Amino acid sequence: MGRTIIVTNRLPVTIKKNRGKYIFEHSIGGVATGLASVCNRRDCLWIGWSGLSGQSLGDYDKRSIRTKLARQHNCHPVFLDKKDVRDHYYGFCNNTLWPLFHCFTQYTIYHKQWWESYRRVNKLYAEAVLAKAKPGDTIWIHDYHLFLLPQLIKDKLPGISIGFFLHIPFPPLEIYRMLPWREDILISLLSADLVGFHTYDYVQNFLDSVHRLLGHEHHLGSIDSGDNVTKADAFPMGIDYSRFTEVARSPRVIKEADKIRRKAGKRQIILSVDRLDYTKGILERLNAFDYFLNQNSQYIGKVTLILVAVPSRTRIENYELLKKQIDERISQINGRYSEVDWIPIWYLYRSLPLEKLVAFYRAADVALITPLRDGMNLIAKEFIAAKRDGQGVLILSELAGTANELREALIINPNDKRQIVAALRQALEMPADKQEEHNRIMQKRLQSYNVTKWAQDFLSNLAELKKTKNQMQTELDEKNRAELNKKYRRSRRRLILLDYDGSLVSFVDDPDKAQPDKELLKIIESLTSDRNNKIVVISGRDRHTLDKWLQETGVEMSAEHGVWVKEKDRWQKTVDLSSASWKNKIMPILEQYVDRTPGSFVEEKDYSLAWHYRKADSKLALIRRKELVESCTQVTDTLGLDILEGNKVIEIKSAEINKGRIASRWLGKRHWDFIFALGDDRTDEDMFSVMPKKAYTIKVGAEHSQARFRIKSVAEARSLLKKLSQ
Ligand code: UDP
Repeated sequence: MGRTIIVTNRLPVTIKKNRGKYIFEHSIGGVATGLASVCNRRDCLWIGWSGLSGQSLGDYDKRSIRTKLARQHNCHPVFLDKKDVRDHYYGFCNNTLWPLFHCFTQYTIYHKQWWESYRRVNKLYAEAVLAKAKPGDTIWIHDYHLFLLPQLIKDKLPGISIGFFLHIPFPPLEIYRMLPWREDILISLLSADLVGFHTYDYVQNFLDSVHRLLGHEHHLGSIDSGDNVTKADAFPMGIDYSRFTEVARSPRVIKEADKIRRKAGKRQIILSVDRLDYTKGILERLNAFDYFLNQNSQYIGKVTLILVAVPSRTRIENYELLKKQIDERISQINGRYSEVDWIPIWYLYRSLPLEKLVAFYRAADVALITPLRDGMNLIAKEFIAAKRDGQGVLILSELAGTANELREALIINPNDKRQIVAALRQALEMPADKQEEHNRIMQKRLQSYNVTKWAQDFLSNLAELKKTKNQMQTELDEKNRAELNKKYRRSRRRLILLDYDGSLVSFVDDPDKAQPDKELLKIIESLTSDRNNKIVVISGRDRHTLDKWLQETGVEMSAEHGVWVKEKDRWQKTVDLSSASWKNKIMPILEQYVDRTPGSFVEEKDYSLAWHYRKADSKLALIRRKELVESCTQVTDTLGLDILEGNKVIEIKSAEINKGRIASRWLGKRHWDFIFALGDDRTDEDMFSVMPKKAYTIKVGAEHSQARFRIKSVAEARSLLKKLSQ
């Protein structure tokens, strides 16, 4: 069993210096708790920034911190210098990625220097991981500070299993594409085996960006990028439910909550808790509260808003400005409505320890949580968990990831102050039984999908993916290559079946332009001229094109997935397809899709029709492809036709025809002592499936295949064949 290596920006340990000595305190954050349950101390280590500046520490201090952290907490620190903390953390992470990923493009700053620092710091983390990681380990990387890590690690340890979880939203393509380094981040993430998000919306946004910016389609969330298959999925992070219920039950918290209630008198308490961040919508919330008092004078003197704002990123100008605006807005509201014995807003600008916070959750009648955008929002979940008696109403922004799970809350649009005001009234007047009914449903859900389940779910999905990959064909490594070469040299009756597009030549926008270059022709000629070889190009293309391109080489061929074969310079039909009259039924459907999908076209072959969409807008084509398959299925089922989904092409042909059938024809011709088959897409799977066990079946690309081996690219396929031909 390998170990699990967790990598986060900060270690879950706070380091303080007290009278010349370093003291370590374990912080009980959500992620740390979730992970504690899935990996015990021995087989789990944690890598992250120590929080200390490397420059200010001498070698002795660094060594002593390293040793203590490793011994006491299984943590391994990364030391960053002041400049990198400024440019990586405050710069690129907090001033570029954070605002952009939360759709605050007006606050997003693009700075080459920050990006350079981001890359440098990611490399430092990668070095720290590589110093510890061994083959067989699992690496779980967290959040936007470390986007480049998957690729940096996979490059050095290709077999290692990597998971990545993003704790903030993934923005829609139109926002994401604004980032000058958008491709670098996506390419790196595709080195991970599993990429997790809080919600399906974020998964969709990510898949969209991968598709549009890198051109990779996905199949049920799995993306084949050639080098790797990456699965993207949603894992909504939970809370440590039992901890919150326990704390909420503790006598100290009950006492503290009673104290808060007593202070509020008979007034209903509305609670608002956030880090002071522009994404949280605190100003908009204050505006709504002002409007609420203005429109509902019966509530003046009857409600208290407790507003907790936790200081955050105070060094950044935007945050400083926002703090000032919030201070002013609170003063205005308090100035306008306060009475001798009542202040509408109690303002706490500080971080509260857990028990204090939970006491506020317990004491509050309403939680008003209205972020303008929030990856998840744990406060909402914690509030519900703390409500042991089932009383209390949650008002929640639809733009928080949590809104997908807490559907029984009063869901509002944070920009619509009238809606917030209506929700406030509804919450303050909601009957007790209704409150309890809603809260019990939400509590049940939070209890079952808690942070432990979340971590277990993610890691078991990652392990499952690894298992499937291990079962998949192995990479054709040096050793296998050498063996293949040896077997080839020793044999005398060799059968070599080659797919054309995607295997011998790369895809191009216009299929007519995929003619073989000199290098390829030379390889095929040279292989064909060896009397011990039978070389066959098995393609889905029509026979005229194959003739035009490959006739000179003397290679044997099969066209239209096996309808035609060319042996001894003569084409012949292999099936008795008396009619292809079905084409009249299918053609109008395809033509309709050509009209509706600019850039796509239909190719008519003797016994098949193919709808190509490589040049069409990729997003539209994807939607149309699904529709087209659906429209055709009704007709194809009754006519005995097959729909083949190839690489950016949908082909409809008689079900009797497939590459397996035609490959069998050559297989049965004599006793071969060396069999080799090369292919890249789903149509080639039919060919692989009929091959004897010992055959060298080779898939180009990383998608799951029945082939025994896989290689990465057309270039690799060519170099392999070139070697054989020499
Ligand atoms: N929190 C805290 N003390 C406070 C306010 C908040 O410990 O005074 C904790 C809270 O319990 C929650 C976390 O901070 O677990 C905030 O997480 P959330 O997802 O709501 O927001 P984020 O800060 O991650 O954007």
